[in-house]
Amino acid sequence: MTDSYVQAVNSGFTKTLAKKLGLPRPAVLRRYRAGDPLTVGPVLVLGGTPGVRDDADRVAEALLGWDLDVRQTPDDTTRWGAVVVVLSGIERPEDASAPVMALSATLRRLAPNGRVVMISRAPAETDSPELAAAREGVDGFLRSVAKELRYGATGNGVQVTDDAPVDSPSVLATLRFFLSARSAFVDGQLLRVGASDADPAVDVDRPLAGKVAVVTGAARGIGAQVARTLARDGAKVVVVDVPAAGEALAAVANEIRGTALQLDVTADDAGARILEHARARHGGLDVLVHNAGILRDKLLANMSPDKWDAVIAVNLAAQLRITEYLLGANGFSSEPRIVSLASTSGIAGNRGQANYAFSKAGVIGHTRAFARLLAAPGGPGGTANAVAPGFIETDMTASIPFVQREVARRVASLQQGGQPVDVAEAIAFLASPAAAGVNGQVLRVCGQNVVGR
Ligand code: NAD
Repeated sequence: MTDSYVQAVNSGFTKTLAKKLGLPRPAVLRRYRAGDPLTVGPVLVLGGTPGVRDDADRVAEALLGWDLDVRQTPDDTTRWGAVVVVLSGIERPEDASAPVMALSATLRRLAPNGRVVMISRAPAETDSPELAAAREGVDGFLRSVAKELRYGATGNGVQVTDDAPVDSPSVLATLRFFLSARSAFVDGQLLRVGASDADPAVDVDRPLAGKVAVVTGAARGIGAQVARTLARDGAKVVVVDVPAAGEALAAVANEIRGTALQLDVTADDAGARILEHARARHGGLDVLVHNAGILRDKLLANMSPDKWDAVIAVNLAAQLRITEYLLGANGFSSEPRIVSLASTSGIAGNRGQANYAFSKAGVIGHTRAFARLLAAPGGPGGTANAVAPGFIETDMTASIPFVQREVARRVASLQQGGQPVDVAEAIAFLASPAAAGVNGQVLRVCGQNVVGR
């Protein structure tokens, strides 16, 4: 599935025409390719105090370890590949002024497909009103800056909890994801990251080597791309889909040297069959991606029980039952990674999608609850997170009427729909060992769509 408008306004005669007519010109986004540099140019780290070793210095040192050209002093000639703004030290709203003005002075020098990443402290229940004001302020600031960026550049934030140093492994892994082309369609988002004992030495190109992953709904669309991306990152992947999609499923399995399991995820024994297959064929199970999903759009006034029930059964109840089974049966090898597909419709609601939005908001609910269970003392450890795509170009969205589809694409800051690989990269990041400190989070992959927050 492609968005031909993006191609048209970026090439030949139609590019000139679009310029003349002042039409929106969504950029061609830079996406990950093995061997490409992490950023499109030098990285500027702002927010430090000269003469004091502080968090900005710690972040800059970590970035140097990734072979980047890192600077802490702005100049008038460099085209920045990324600007990292370290705001972890702000304690009063007034403290933000200096780093914010420093960022302001550099924005015009941000390269196309550049990155702005803010690192700040996550608001905590124990914050004084003044500290809470300063920390929450970053949220609105980041989302606004992201809306002002152009030419495929994005702005995202890492909110570090008070128990984690800014250079702890999961914070740096999240920073790396936001800086990289893997986060091409993630824009205007803040991800909360806590302390973890993740191993910083994991191979950044094959972080899932030795892991076994199961992806449901993997015969096509986002699920097929998730399977490819997890395999690229080193995992052995079991692809699951309904028997009717068996041929396409086998093709995906062959392509990635994984195995196929024909299964309707709503079956009573779905969890048991997944576990049996993963153990028998690959010796265990580490990563579970709940991706299978369906649409049965109707205004609520026209909703039939079968349309409501089918969506709840596939999109929500099946996820719940499979995860409960696997946790109850001690099915995960160690450090489970559970990633579930939510949707921006579940966050903001969507006309004609009452059933779908219930199911996707429900996914966010169980994700947070499973995250607490996993992290509880004596619990199994590991993480549960959700990814909430906005408008992604797949067969599912190709069924949306043309005008609605066109609007959905252009109301995002990046002015276009995302590709399945954009969702897959976010899932691969959350599934990686380095993301151990990211738990119970909902990561939107929506190009900063105006729908909800
Ligand atoms: P898709 O329709 O292209 O693919 C979904 C796959 O799930 C299909 O292969 C289908 O056969 C499979 N499936 C459906 N019911 C199943 C069942 N009972 N058991 C096993 N497999 C089943 O959809 P997509 O666009 O790739 O979406 C994938 C996920 O992402 C879904 O959960 C969807 O709700 C979510 N999502 C998609 C978008 C988007 O814009 N495409 C936006 C937000 C969320």
